[in-house]
Amino acid sequence: MIEIINLKKSYKNVQALKGINLKVDKGELFSLLGPNGAGKTTCIRIINGLTKKDEGKIFIHGIDIFKHKYEGKKLCGLIPQSVNLDVDLTIRENLFIHGLLYSMTLKEIKERSGELLEYVGMYEKQNFKVKALSGGMRRRVLIARALMHSPKVLFLDEPTVGLDPSIRRKIWWLIKKIQENGTTIFLTTHYIEEAEFLADRVAFIDEGSIVKIDTPDNLKQEIGQYAVDVIDDNNFKTFFFKGKNEISNFFKEDYKKFHIRRVNLEDAFITHTGKKVSND
Ligand code: ATP
Repeated sequence: MIEIINLKKSYKNVQALKGINLKVDKGELFSLLGPNGAGKTTCIRIINGLTKKDEGKIFIHGIDIFKHKYEGKKLCGLIPQSVNLDVDLTIRENLFIHGLLYSMTLKEIKERSGELLEYVGMYEKQNFKVKALSGGMRRRVLIARALMHSPKVLFLDEPTVGLDPSIRRKIWWLIKKIQENGTTIFLTTHYIEEAEFLADRVAFIDEGSIVKIDTPDNLKQEIGQYAVDVIDDNNFKTFFFKGKNEISNFFKEDYKKFHIRRVNLEDAFITHTGKKVSND
């Protein structure tokens, strides 16, 4: 469905992508997880024709998107990190312009925009100007706009950055619903919870390289089931355990301050890269 082969990109002296290889299956929700500056946006921008690659190939549905730009573009829908709607136009007008750009007929635009605004819960507000909308509402409109031309693959670049936790959850459910309707989803995030909640598979990306790809469960189980955070002589350390028995043996040592919890994706990311994904 999506195949990326040896994708490379440098900006002057920064090697943003150092030869990325990955495959995303049809209908899958795939997440690129990594800290700020890891190369996530560059990857999504290249796939969507907004940034030029230096080297590499990308196939979507078997189509070489660098050779067949228009066909490639029609297969993809993009929700960028920054909200790039026209704030002086209404919601419907924003969708209308997108439809025209993708050569949809007026009838198609009318039907599809009505259907999608209903779908993202913005139908009642369709004649509101975008500048009157909250951040969460703008994200919903971005999602509706990206789906207008019925793309087979939806790319979301940090879809919930800057949103309140409750609004973030609503967007997550909407993304799940879009996947259930058959769309393949490629999402970048630096939120651990977002990747854990949404992704079928996660790729850890760090300093322009893919470090590991697997399901969230496998990535966690590989390092253990439980984590014990210990503060000892002002040092903070985390130990990982496969089961509860191992933890009880461990406490034969006399730690005064500790916290036992389930292993999460952050632990797995730190194990593979030596750094945290997010400081949020
Ligand atoms: P973020 O979540 O902060 O957007 P990211 O993982 O998406 O991070 P990129 O935006 O792809 O990472 O950036 C990867 C590297 O390339 C960073 O070091 C960044 O500073 C650099 N970079 C990105 N865009 C440009 C540009 N237009 N010019 C120069 N350097 C750039």
